[in-house]
Amino acid sequence: MPELPEVEAARRRIERGALNRTIEAVTYGDDITHMDLPDRAALDRFTGTQFSTATRHGKFIFAGTQGGPWMMIHLGMAGSIRVMDADEVDADYIRLTVAFEGGTRLTFRDPRKFGEIVVVEDVEDYVAERGLGPDALTIGDNAFADVIGGTRGAVKSALLAQSKLAGVGNLWADESLYRAGILPDARACDLEAGRIGKLHGVVGDTLKAVVDTDAVYSKLPADWLIHRRDEGADCGICDGAIAKTKVGGRTSYFCPDHQTGA
Ligand SMILES: [Zn+2]
Repeated sequence: MPELPEVEAARRRIERGALNRTIEAVTYGDDITHMDLPDRAALDRFTGTQFSTATRHGKFIFAGTQGGPWMMIHLGMAGSIRVMDADEVDADYIRLTVAFEGGTRLTFRDPRKFGEIVVVEDVEDYVAERGLGPDALTIGDNAFADVIGGTRGAVKSALLAQSKLAGVGNLWADESLYRAGILPDARACDLEAGRIGKLHGVVGDTLKAVVDTDAVYSKLPADWLIHRRDEGADCGICDGAIAKTKVGGRTSYFCPDHQTGA
């Protein structure tokens, strides 16, 4: 499932290839039944305009025209975005295409149809309406200590709660806790302030490192958990073995030797 780094990679593709080009048409792809897409009239508002900026909050991308509106894109479970040249052939499962003058186009592919596109007037209002917490890449130390360190439940569940911290999903929550040496089911409010501070640093470093590879996991360091999400696999940090458990209903991989609770 796309998390913040995958979504940021998608945002960068829009920024690199789809800004400041005049939109000729926005068209639906094949089979859009049961999908959350804007209606025809809403999409037609983009015709003749240009995207001038692409921003992101958590797992939500916002492609904005001068003075609005914005096109919010959420990738759902398996969605992806590509900017295609005129001579490139579309993949299957394209649900929406933004066609620019000259033949370049922005395609939204979504085989599983859990993605979502919404026409938005104001990004800040929309983020507030969706109840999203601060973005995981930009949240400050004090805010992180408040929203995560103040939680009575499991620290992993706090990291995953989009209302507390927007952008972290299952994979990078596990990775951050593994690298910070904290058990996923440790009670967040029982952890010392210094450990919460360290966790904040590790979450940021982890997300940035994945963003820097454009979310290509094979380029991530060899000692990371992402390469050993298997019960019994050798830990990359100590001599222990990776174990599996459920925290808040989510499958969690961790090392019981070097990850500890309060
Ligand atoms: Zn270990």
